[in-house]
Amino acid sequence: MILRDGLLGLLLWFGVPAPSSATETAISCSGQPVQGGLLFCTATPGGTLVVSGSKGEALREVPVADDGLATIGLRRTEALELLITDKEGWAPPLTIPLEKRTDPFRTINGLDCDKVDARTPEQKAHAGRSWVKKQDAFGTFHTGQGARAGFIRPSDGPPSSPFGPARKYVGVGKDGKPCESTSVHRGYDIAIPVGTDIVAPAGGTVTLGDPDLYYEGGTVFLDHGDGLVSVFLHMSEIGVSAGDIVQAGDRLGASGNTGRTSGPHLHWAVKWRNTLSDDRGKDFYIDPALLLDLEPHQ
Ligand SMILES: [Zn+2]
Repeated sequence: MILRDGLLGLLLWFGVPAPSSATETAISCSGQPVQGGLLFCTATPGGTLVVSGSKGEALREVPVADDGLATIGLRRTEALELLITDKEGWAPPLTIPLEKRTDPFRTINGLDCDKVDARTPEQKAHAGRSWVKKQDAFGTFHTGQGARAGFIRPSDGPPSSPFGPARKYVGVGKDGKPCESTSVHRGYDIAIPVGTDIVAPAGGTVTLGDPDLYYEGGTVFLDHGDGLVSVFLHMSEIGVSAGDIVQAGDRLGASGNTGRTSGPHLHWAVKWRNTLSDDRGKDFYIDPALLLDLEPHQ
């Protein structure tokens, strides 16, 4: 992936000299300043960081944890220059330029139309139940290490489809009629045979373990803390249940070919949720491949 290579030179520290007061911490950020990436920003513990665009428009507010760390997800379409300030006015603002993504557009043919959209009443009811389960899990928050310890690959195997591209699915239904739908690929696909072990890429609390969601198939949600949740789709076996606490490397189940797929693979996605907001519609997915390159925060 081009972005990953380009990022090697971008693992910079941004920062300004510390303020004179011993109790206030200057804002400084490390991590991956690229659209779809993640920033670790240190600031005064217990404060609130305000992320604004280059025109000063406030985009979101992010809490600073007791250890002085704020974990800031970056949208796939984030403004290319961000201003980070603290709401309390304790420290000078920080400007962070972001690297722009260059994701391609892909067309995927040969899909089973009955898997593209829920059509029959039974399919629609199944999709509706699945949606409710996902919303409930996304609305559940646990504390944890977040991204501090970094991420490992959830399974060995070649990456088959990166995060970011828009994909148009084209197929023909049983009635011979064509169908299509377009969506942005918000996960990171690993091509592995059905039955391959899936492990936790970082520690966390399981918030959903379901063998049969309509689009997603066998699904596990894992809340890492700091609002970050990993999503694993199309699994053939679910080895954990909601409430289970796992460490990095613990087995979650096995990969499969369930739900809306065009072949056996693991779809791993990571959602950044704003823990200061009750509006789950403003949460967004970040790029898991970038997380694999993230330096742990000491
Ligand atoms: Zn995928």
